[in-house]
Amino acid sequence: MDIQSQIADLKTRLTEIEDLRSASAVLSWDRATYMPPGGAAARGRQSALLARLRQEKLNDPALGRLLDALQPHGESLPYDSAAAAMLRLARREYDRAQRVPPAFVAQLHQHLGESFAAWRQARPENNFALVRPYLEKTVELSRQYAAFFPEATHPADPFIEQFDYGLNTATVRAVFAELRQQLVPLVQALTAQPPADDSCLLQTFPMDQQWSIGLEASQLFGYDMNRGRQDQAPHPFMTSFSIGDVRITTRLRADVFSDAFYSTLHETGHALYEQGVAPELEGTPLAGGASAGMHESQSRLWENLVGRSRAFCEFFYPRLQHAFPAQLGTVPLDTFYRAINKVQRSLIRTDADEVTYNLHVIVRFDLELALLEGQLAVRDLPEAWRARYQSDLGVRAPSDSDGVLQDMHWFYSPVGGRFQGYTLGNMMSAQIFDAASRALPSLPADIQRGQFTGLRQWLTENVYRHGKKFTAAETLHRATGQPLQVAPYIRYLRQKYGELYAV
Ligand code: ZN
Repeated sequence: MDIQSQIADLKTRLTEIEDLRSASAVLSWDRATYMPPGGAAARGRQSALLARLRQEKLNDPALGRLLDALQPHGESLPYDSAAAAMLRLARREYDRAQRVPPAFVAQLHQHLGESFAAWRQARPENNFALVRPYLEKTVELSRQYAAFFPEATHPADPFIEQFDYGLNTATVRAVFAELRQQLVPLVQALTAQPPADDSCLLQTFPMDQQWSIGLEASQLFGYDMNRGRQDQAPHPFMTSFSIGDVRITTRLRADVFSDAFYSTLHETGHALYEQGVAPELEGTPLAGGASAGMHESQSRLWENLVGRSRAFCEFFYPRLQHAFPAQLGTVPLDTFYRAINKVQRSLIRTDADEVTYNLHVIVRFDLELALLEGQLAVRDLPEAWRARYQSDLGVRAPSDSDGVLQDMHWFYSPVGGRFQGYTLGNMMSAQIFDAASRALPSLPADIQRGQFTGLRQWLTENVYRHGKKFTAAETLHRATGQPLQVAPYIRYLRQKYGELYAV
């Protein structure tokens, strides 16, 4: 076989693997939106079958032989070609899949299924003792998993690599230490000021209007409804079955406006990324975001840097007042702007504001490293959690439900790799927005006029269209001319919140 037909063969195999992933995603989307409870057992079986078929295709020795045969040609292909990128990514995924024995994967999944069920019971009961044995085993299995990657210098490395390829524990730890050092005093200064009045957000908002105003903003940002749709789900998410079918979900709450609206803008950011991938990457594993962190950078960019900016409020707030005349009609723009940017010490990560959010993430990241290193025992975790919340956020959880049990991550997946992307995303969002602002001098005025095409096109050209062709670090460097920096994010927070809180 010549190289062209070998590459075509590779593409066919990878597309089949990708199609199995997309088919699983359809089932998961349905389970989270419309499936009646009675479908759960069969759906679990059907999803497990698709996951197994995908794993078998990924582990096919013929795929390994093909990758070996293509290896010498890979270097002669242009680095930024889709073929070269596909080879790099397939090699990485194939090698990774070979490391972990299928029996171990099955054991891990079985255990995590039981752990997740225990957590669902334990959180409302405030019962850490119930999940403790499960979490102890999860930590143990996570350490065993990491041992299949003996070249890793830290047991969290294989997990971080899985979601944010190109980074490892040492690099993330260093960046987070620098960020934390700058954030803690900023949070102290802001929370020493009188708190913003957010009572205007805490009224009864008709859900139909919440639904349509969120979708209106989403479409203004450029979400293409011919290739997307919005549905309700208890935990908002974005999912993609192809470049032509990228869906978002939202959760409506009658008693708080910002929950649905800003989660819609957040998921829209994820969706714009997926819809912006170059059509020629369709069906290949390159059609998706470069990393968890890079994906989060786009949801945060649209939600926060655009959606919570003063310029956006100047444009969009009259529309909100029109949609909710009884609730917002007499509330001045300035009051609304301060309310949606209220900074406060809080217990729950997912409700946290832009400034304190990252402290929640860094606490989790540090604790999971300590668990994996064996420096912290699971039985001491709730107290370690409370101590870090006291020192970093100045609050103490009255219960484990609002403490160590609040996130599902450690209870449905291995410990490690799942949290850092949120904060890396925040940092990258500011760095990328900075670069876009330099390239588009009219950006603030555009946002004020409700013109988002220039920004979306710049992001498509510099980030979205590449999909997974480059690593997140490469994509960031190409888009901004710099490696990952703490400074643009801190500068953004200081400027915005310094003005809001006069500090
Ligand atoms: Zn997100």
